[in-house]
Amino acid sequence: MNNFDDNKMLKELASVINQLETVQSDLQQSDSFSVPVPAVGRLTSQWHKMFTGEASAAQAAQQGQLASTLAQQLDRLRTSHDRLQHIQSISDKKLQQASIQLQQSGFSPAQSDEWLTSISKKEGSHQGQLLQLLDYYQIALANSIASRSKSESEQQGNQHKLCSRMLQLIDELHFSGPVTIELAKLRHQLQQDIAPALLPSICIKLIDLTIEGYRFERKNSTKFLSNLNSHLEKVHRNFAITCSEGQSLFDARTHHGHHISGELRAIGEHLCNQTNEQLKADIELRMHSINHILVQNDRLQEREQTLLQRMNDMDQQIQTLKEEADNFKQQLNTQNDKLFIDSLTQIHNRAGMDQRLDIEYRQWLRYEKPLCVALLDIDYFKEVNDKYGHLAGDKALRLIARTLEKSIRGSDFVARFGGEEFIVLLNNIDQENIEVPLQKLRESIKRIPFKFKEDPVTITISLGATLFRAGDSIHSAIERADQALYRAKHAGRDQIVID
Ligand code: GH3
Ligand code: MG
Ligand code: MG
Repeated sequence: MNNFDDNKMLKELASVINQLETVQSDLQQSDSFSVPVPAVGRLTSQWHKMFTGEASAAQAAQQGQLASTLAQQLDRLRTSHDRLQHIQSISDKKLQQASIQLQQSGFSPAQSDEWLTSISKKEGSHQGQLLQLLDYYQIALANSIASRSKSESEQQGNQHKLCSRMLQLIDELHFSGPVTIELAKLRHQLQQDIAPALLPSICIKLIDLTIEGYRFERKNSTKFLSNLNSHLEKVHRNFAITCSEGQSLFDARTHHGHHISGELRAIGEHLCNQTNEQLKADIELRMHSINHILVQNDRLQEREQTLLQRMNDMDQQIQTLKEEADNFKQQLNTQNDKLFIDSLTQIHNRAGMDQRLDIEYRQWLRYEKPLCVALLDIDYFKEVNDKYGHLAGDKALRLIARTLEKSIRGSDFVARFGGEEFIVLLNNIDQENIEVPLQKLRESIKRIPFKFKEDPVTITISLGATLFRAGDSIHSAIERADQALYRAKHAGRDQIVID
């Protein structure tokens, strides 16, 4: 399933939940004559009025409408379920095709054939990231097979690129659950020097963990959906029973009322016209009839009691439903936010940058206010890792990210571009003095008093920057900034080149 489908489904779910909340609040607040009844919920008091005959026809119609809205929401939820299954089956097919293609390419050794077949059969194997990983796997395999025919530097270049792409992918995955520890281990492994022959198996491991992670997340969502579904079914069923029971009780009450008043009228008429003996016999007869009415009345009261109990249960169910929906919505929001945040540094990631750059670019096209894009790369960062370990390197990356964030203006933007590279967008910049804020950034990093294993260490960055020009696309401007960064590195590092 690609992100687009994922987002669509999440949005659909959120909207169903919103609708449910509206239904729920309508159910609880539609009683315009509501008198607070502490022992029972508002819904109960509303229904009580209806079957004791106090409810207006309009209110009854409103209840009917709510029941049909509830039924509609139930249908939408079922459609979401079906859609989820459909998308899953399509993604499974896609993955299977990719795996067959790879096997036919003749590159894959026997062991990976087995892996791939088992992966493609795994239930819940979706997400574009998996297909991306299969690409990486192909490259890794080709690299390790063709290693004899390629120059060492070319090979290293390929491998370096692949490792950083996989590292970036790991940083984009925000799984919870048991796979997080395994992913951290793999991340660490990718940061070391790896023999080309090992890369394909690392790729496979990453595919496995990605599937595992998605399956875990999906299981949580599916569990919530089926809970919500069954709660909703229950509420809906109760709602229908309550409607018909309320109506029939209302009819019975009316009938009962007519019966009593008929009896009273008859007693009155007899009292006026009968002799004593006749009166006595007649009163006995009437007493018999009144006893019958009293028994009927008791039965009606029992039915009313049951109905009240059912409505109390329904109030409770709706409350639970709302709480669960609230929780899930919160989870969806957090997941959505996480999509744009880099897990290591907690600043925006590449996806966050794409989104922001898109907005800034459109504004630049419209208002033509100067927009500057700068690429930053930490100098000799490999040495920090090699000398002090990757954990120290990670810590440094976090501190550098935080410092960059603090050193830019509120309207500017910084994101981790990948590895030890960052991207900064400066809008509304003074074209003549574009270097000033960039120098400030460079100096703020240089001034961080790093200390690794008691050694004071100075870390510097190189920057390549450019202003958007007429005819630029986002890609062409970033490409120019990248070239400028390359020149800054070659001119000795710890400096800025503006193109
Ligand atoms: P240069 O001045 O040419 O940029 O030298 P460099 O050593 O910074 O560049 P190179 O591209 O050779 O190496 C980048 C290093 O950055 C290697 C890699 O291990 C490290 N790196 C990339 N991402 C991470 C990360 O997430 N954590 C840690 N600790 N290191 C990372
Ligand atoms: Mg770099
Ligand atoms: Mg570097």
